[in-house]
Amino acid sequence: MTQQDIRPPAQASAPVTLATPEPARRPLISYVLPVYNEQDGITAFHTELTAALDARPDLAAELVYVNDGSSDGSLAILQGLAQKDDRVRVIDFARNFGHQIAITAGLDIATGDAVIVMDTDLQDPPRVSLELVDAWRDGAEIVHARRRSRQDTAFKRTTAHMFYRLLRSWTDVDIPVDTGDFRLLDRRVADELRRYRERSRFVRGIVASMGYRQKEISFDRDERFAGETKYPLRKMARLAIDGVTSFSTTPLKLITRLGFVVLLLSLAGIVYALGMKFFRPDITVSGWTMLMVVVLFLGGTQMLSLGVLGSYIGRIYSEAQRRPLYLVREVIGADEDGRDGRRGV
Ligand code: UDP
Ligand code: MG
Repeated sequence: MTQQDIRPPAQASAPVTLATPEPARRPLISYVLPVYNEQDGITAFHTELTAALDARPDLAAELVYVNDGSSDGSLAILQGLAQKDDRVRVIDFARNFGHQIAITAGLDIATGDAVIVMDTDLQDPPRVSLELVDAWRDGAEIVHARRRSRQDTAFKRTTAHMFYRLLRSWTDVDIPVDTGDFRLLDRRVADELRRYRERSRFVRGIVASMGYRQKEISFDRDERFAGETKYPLRKMARLAIDGVTSFSTTPLKLITRLGFVVLLLSLAGIVYALGMKFFRPDITVSGWTMLMVVVLFLGGTQMLSLGVLGSYIGRIYSEAQRRPLYLVREVIGADEDGRDGRRGV
């Protein structure tokens, strides 16, 4: 069966869409579900997702859970789910590789006509994923789920708000404001996305930069069902830096600007120092203060610049290594070749 056959009617290229018959088979929707220490919430999430899916007999589903090196009982719970439900597949990572890599691994084995990436803490409500599917059937190739409100802490809300605005003004790609990684990708987009293999990956940025027909659906973000955020400040900061540096060289340009300002200030300082020396030699004593200010100021700006340069060079280094992005211990629920055919038809 070709890609064209399974397209929803609205996407068919024939001009008379009304006359297009219903697709012969139900479209397969793959869910890519990263899991990191979610033992207290994963069962509730699975129950809610499957309940939402049961209400839509027109869709077939495949659930790809990626266990991102959880140190709690998450894996055992996922194994249980895979046993009970043959739509479930589990990728078990050899260690924690991080959210963005977990999503990538899920996309690598998802086989659906559309792929939905969502968190497993019930902050991305399963029922909203079906709205994404509807938008896809109406012809969108990428559907972003945009948070209308969020129940996170004030700190997280403020930093996230600032981050998205900064990203918007600093990067060339138009990343939709207030979207996380909750989105739907058409099969074609998912296939293309798989060709992006950089290590410092900021998936939502890459997707936004790809083009295609994009659409946004708004939803109210719920509170985390159980446990606490797996994105502590450190990981958030890293993601933010990846987001900026993988799409923008603005920090490098800022250094250049800073360099100009420092240069002008130093020139003024030199003129001042010479002037004092020649015209007011009586009060020009040691010049120690001036010396300290200049040395510290130049030292500081140089260190800052080196830091920014270093972060880009570090990225070049790790990209140049071309190591595998992730290591899998096992894939539960797949055929021997590790990639099963289209299921749930
Ligand atoms: N996650 C992951 N690996 C990590 C951190 C998080 O797979 O190293 C998963 C986590 O289980 C959740 C999703 O990524 O399904 C989003 O994480 P979280 O809810 O902690 O982020 P927040 O919603 O607080 O931004
Ligand atoms: Mg969350």
